[in-house]
Amino acid sequence: MVDERERRVMDLIDTNHREIIDLLRELLAFKTITPGDQPVEHDEFIRHQAFLKQTLTNLGFEEIDVWEADAAKLGAEPGSGVNKNRDLRNMPILVGRLPGAGGGRSLILNGHYDVVPLGLLEAWTRDPFAGEIADGKIYGRGTNDMKGGIAAMLKALDFIARAGFTLDGDILAQIVPDEEASCMGTLAACQRGYTADAAIIPEPTNMRVGTAVRGSMGGKLTVFGRAGHAEQPQPHWTEGGAVNAISKAMRVLEGMAEATEEWRTQPDKQHPLVPPDHIIPTVIRGGEWAVTIPEQVEIEFDCMFVPGTNDKRAEIVEKLDAVCANDPWLRENPPELDLGDPEGWIYPAEVGEDEPIVQTALQSLADVGIQPALMGFGSLTDCVHLINYSEIPTINLGPDIESAHSADEFATVEQLIDLTKTLALSIMRWSGVRESASA
Ligand SMILES: [Zn+2]
Repeated sequence: MVDERERRVMDLIDTNHREIIDLLRELLAFKTITPGDQPVEHDEFIRHQAFLKQTLTNLGFEEIDVWEADAAKLGAEPGSGVNKNRDLRNMPILVGRLPGAGGGRSLILNGHYDVVPLGLLEAWTRDPFAGEIADGKIYGRGTNDMKGGIAAMLKALDFIARAGFTLDGDILAQIVPDEEASCMGTLAACQRGYTADAAIIPEPTNMRVGTAVRGSMGGKLTVFGRAGHAEQPQPHWTEGGAVNAISKAMRVLEGMAEATEEWRTQPDKQHPLVPPDHIIPTVIRGGEWAVTIPEQVEIEFDCMFVPGTNDKRAEIVEKLDAVCANDPWLRENPPELDLGDPEGWIYPAEVGEDEPIVQTALQSLADVGIQPALMGFGSLTDCVHLINYSEIPTINLGPDIESAHSADEFATVEQLIDLTKTLALSIMRWSGVRESASA
């Protein structure tokens, strides 16, 4: 049930919903595309944050902290996903505090402002940075992942204030870079000491409350063969003959597929909200010359795992040993497994359904007229650091995810309005509100 005070905020959002879209369009115009291996050499990220610093100042935020993280100086623990070699220059982090009147619970609102690359430009029928509106949808890179969420969370605070309310608890807004690559923006904010009683990340979740994400570890397998002339008859390998590394790599790839298939139904890999564990080859390199039997193949892979597991190494080694046991060459010449440092892995994370912030969000969704439900991510979000490093109960809650990372990415205007309402209710109920003295 929405009470009389909440109704005032809901009505204000309905009357002025165009402002949510206007703010989103301003954010979309900054081309904050997550960099690859090369550092950022332009000022789009810096100008985006300068714009938001002004926006937050207008909303009454104080102590606005803008800084660039140095990956080499971040604390690295197993499962923290630190990549010391990544260059985070020219991608500032912004954290601001909206001071509460006192006595309420504090809340972090976290959003990443980097967006994935555009992909094939020919696939876009809309300008990726203009925020074109058609048929009730707003188009552009980041509309749902996740500048739409950033616009909704900031406008929620704006409408609460304009309806004549002051929040009791402090609000921390965290606008972070590099979620799409390293998640080190939020990690840096956590390590700088910013904390609260709960956190909400408006990542796209199909308007459900996201409470679980899988962990991630990448790795590389190098499969060895023995070179030889491809067009000459070869003696058996035990007599010095060539061995085709591509053929041997196929055994390893079959082993990966078998492992994923086993985990699909294995009881300890099942989770009510996220898919079971997997290990999937993602990059393959091999062979040296068109008429040379290849002597080496490199297989990079992606491994994801459900909450409850932190270290897949033993399982991967066991599976690899089983593959090698069935092949005399591989038994004598086992592939080299590189799982990187455990500091580079990211552990999974989840919060319980009974956490107060989860219940607050579920009730708020219901009161906006949306069937309340939980969800989990097969991939992960910055919630891993807020949960694992800072031990803050953290949820994800945002618009439909289907068009994320795709051409013609969009969010529906109706959903952005519903999201703003849901966030406003969640913020008011979490923090507590009072009538503003000056209202
Ligand atoms: Zn995202």
